Amino acid sequence: MLQFGIDLGGTKTEIIALDQSGKELLRRRKPTPRDSYDAILNNILSLVNDAASELAQSYTLGLGIPGALSYQTGLVKNANTTCLIGEDLKGDLERALKQPVVITNDADCLALSEATDGAGAGFPSVFAVIVGTGCGGGWVVRGSLVSGPNAITGEWGHNPLPWREDSDAVLNCYCGLSGCQETILSGTGIRLQAREETGKDQPAEVWVAAAEAGDEEAKGVLFRHHRRLAKALAAVINLMDPHVIVLGGGVSNIASVYDVVPQLWQEWVFSDSVITPLKKSVHGDSSGVRGAAWLGAQADYSSTG
Ligand SMILES: [Zn+2]
Repeated sequence: MLQFGIDLGGTKTEIIALDQSGKELLRRRKPTPRDSYDAILNNILSLVNDAASELAQSYTLGLGIPGALSYQTGLVKNANTTCLIGEDLKGDLERALKQPVVITNDADCLALSEATDGAGAGFPSVFAVIVGTGCGGGWVVRGSLVSGPNAITGEWGHNPLPWREDSDAVLNCYCGLSGCQETILSGTGIRLQAREETGKDQPAEVWVAAAEAGDEEAKGVLFRHHRRLAKALAAVINLMDPHVIVLGGGVSNIASVYDVVPQLWQEWVFSDSVITPLKKSVHGDSSGVRGAAWLGAQADYSSTG
């Protein structure tokens, strides 16, 4: 049995096929159609059907989406690709493919991928977050994704930043609240917070390059960002005490995060010492599609007992 995973992103849709050992047998990607649910659905079906006919073996299928399925209705919610909201993506795929399909959040896919054979492999529990355009998290315990009745486990980005200081900007969030930590920890957040602090409006990558070249103002911008990230992760440690924290997304590529954040978070963690490792994701941008593949396989085992 092969394991197919699909990562449905805002701009591209990718499929991967893994064998039981995690070896990659096939990988394809297509642009994600804009603003049409039917076009997105047909795009996924053509990727799956082409891979299935090429590999000519039965498969499990998992799908990572920028959103979640409502437990009440089974329909898509919380998706920033808004034409998916309210659609029966799981049901439509299962009817067309005549087999079970498992769908979860893209941050859950990162967590499962990294827990299975990435930076969290061998740790009993893994909290993994995508800190990129937004901030979404996932929680894996002993190899299994944890999910709750609201399908929002790990949605830490929409909590307010803890231990807030006067210099921390309070920015409006697309979720309808303001001051969500996503709005200042994400790549976009680095830009907006730095604009408040310095009056300069430039992308996070420009600040990072300047800091790495030794620019004092940029180093200050990044240090304050890392201090805020340390507070936000200290709150996670206090609540869940994961055995490892894994970062994905654009902010995970900032090398200084892994030195500075663990030096700072002790101040807010309710423990005499903090030994939690903070690691960069091993599979990077591939974690979404790899995690989706592992997820489909897990669900197949549980449904067949
Ligand atoms: Zn929010």
